[in-house]
Amino acid sequence: MRYVSTRGRAPVLGFEDTMLTGLARDGGLYVPEEVPVLSPGDIAALAGRPYEDVAVRVMAPFVADAFDEATFAGMVERAYAGFGHDARAPLRQLGPNHHLLELFHGPTLAFKDFAMQLIGQMFEHSLERRGERVSIVGATSGDTGSAAIEAFRGLDAVDVFILYPHGRVSEVQRRQMTTPTEANVHALALAGHFDDCQARLKEMFNDFAFRDRVGLAGVNSINFARVLAQVVYYFTAATALGAPHREVSFTVPTGNFGDIFAGHIARRMGLPIRQLVVATNQNDILHRCLTTGEYRTGEVHPSISPSMDIQVSSNFERALHLAYDRDGAAVSQLMEELRGGGFTVSQGALEALREVYASGRVSEEETAATIAGMRDRTGELLCPHSAIGARVAETHLGDVPMVTLATAHPAKFPDAVEAATGLRPPLPPRLADLFDRAERVTRVENDLAALEAVIDERRAA
Ligand SMILES: *Cc1c(COP(=O)(O)O)cnc(C)c1O
Repeated sequence: MRYVSTRGRAPVLGFEDTMLTGLARDGGLYVPEEVPVLSPGDIAALAGRPYEDVAVRVMAPFVADAFDEATFAGMVERAYAGFGHDARAPLRQLGPNHHLLELFHGPTLAFKDFAMQLIGQMFEHSLERRGERVSIVGATSGDTGSAAIEAFRGLDAVDVFILYPHGRVSEVQRRQMTTPTEANVHALALAGHFDDCQARLKEMFNDFAFRDRVGLAGVNSINFARVLAQVVYYFTAATALGAPHREVSFTVPTGNFGDIFAGHIARRMGLPIRQLVVATNQNDILHRCLTTGEYRTGEVHPSISPSMDIQVSSNFERALHLAYDRDGAAVSQLMEELRGGGFTVSQGALEALREVYASGRVSEEETAATIAGMRDRTGELLCPHSAIGARVAETHLGDVPMVTLATAHPAKFPDAVEAATGLRPPLPPRLADLFDRAERVTRVENDLAALEAVIDERRAA
């Protein structure tokens, strides 16, 4: 499989280089040059299979140039062995024709484990084969950092450094980053905001001498390997509900557009998805864009669903690339305009987007009311992100099954859930001692040289 940049001016790469590179050199994001299509017979054969089997079948055509099937199957097996549910991504019914896809049974209780656990396996394999070492450095407001640490802890060829804003992540999120005991894990609490963490990380990537010396690598959701791993659960859910013989729709709590774009890839692969519904909180740039065609950035307003508090949704570029019929020059032009504050999607591209995507926005009050209402009507405790999905889904129910993606476990956001329902969700038993484990963290100044010095000193030689 060959991968090309959304902006059309970066080298064409195979899967392994795409994964290890992350961002394309022209500033774009890598996408497969052609999406492989499964026949209805192929899709029917996935129904009822273990998650790992479906994962290998769905992803094999994308990764075949990097891993043979037996090797890949071993990585998939190890990636999901630590999940707390045999189905990995179980479905629960919320109402007539409305289902919840629980994506929070991984080690850090958010859907990001599905991709991060597999990426950990793939990085380890590729780096060992190449005889290389890397330093993964990531900035996080919470979920991405804990998922990355969990995936890379104890791996030989990797040091993982996670920058988080000191005092600004939830206690569960912080402890997930500071309690792993492996020597290759480094939680760095930066004196500043999340934006400072991201800014320092960018500067680090632009310091080429440092970048080459430490083998800097990134695992945020611009990495296509992350999107790919998320395609799988669209297949397991849809086939459980009758695909390929019956259409299914999905509603996805959306921030950076990675999770929902995975659904778009599944649809292109032949899965009969009628609609992909983008659910946003009060930071509704995507909902406004799909409604009016105007993509204009403003200020981020912090919410009780912090993982969706974004203004620039980086993976939306991949959807634009498809909507503009893979016209890299047109996408480059839009991204240039974005630097000046925003752009207008052409009429043709907007129609192409609306053929796939619908959208809705949920206020803070509605989010809390939905958490409470769902608990009363179904007994389900939803995290705030998942509640936003469920609320938007309810306004898009129709004659095909609707699946809402539950992106995190309610115990990851206990304060918001308790405020809405009076109930404090307990951590699952395997994490119940999280508050007793010793923490290990390095405080760092909001300063590039100081940060680089810490990384240089800590990484294994
Ligand atoms: C990351 C995250 C999201 C947003 O997912 P994107 O792929 O960035 O759109 C939603 N909910 C939770 C709990 C998350 O951690």
